[in-house]
Amino acid sequence: MAIQRTFSIIKPDATRRNLTGAINAKFEAAGLRIVAQKRIQLTLAQAEAFYAVHSERPFFGELTEFMASAPIVAQILEGEDAIRKNREVMGATNPAEAEEGTIRKEFALSIGENSVHGSDAPETAAVEMAFFFSGLEIAG
Ligand code: GDP
Repeated sequence: MAIQRTFSIIKPDATRRNLTGAINAKFEAAGLRIVAQKRIQLTLAQAEAFYAVHSERPFFGELTEFMASAPIVAQILEGEDAIRKNREVMGATNPAEAEEGTIRKEFALSIGENSVHGSDAPETAAVEMAFFFSGLEIAG
């Protein structure tokens, strides 16, 4: 597997509790390099645009209001097999089902307030990186 990039978000529940560094340490320990990173607060419209694929889901309103409720840290992570590796270190969507040692097991508050987002495929990674970053913002 070649070096790959994936898109990550540290969500509002985690930035509120000052967990950015603790979560980044998990990424780095897993061999993922943070090649771009910025802390921003999304508007509700921006959160709705980012999560448009979930617009028919019953939790869409709750999810987008949560994502706009406090700053997030948007990131690009790079490494061998980065998409799969990041999903592994994140853990299951529902922290009650997440494996020991994963970010969501350790830090997530609930299935909604689950501390991190990570792209699930190369196609979504490309779209999500472009949503948040221009080429000039990525260190390589
Ligand atoms: P992920 O890829 O593991 O983040 O999970 P999904 O793509 O299925 O869902 C996207 C995000 O929507 C999750 O990370 C949660 O923040 C949120 N979400 C998923 N299921 C639920 C739910 O049942 N209730 C609420 N409130 N939020 C949910």
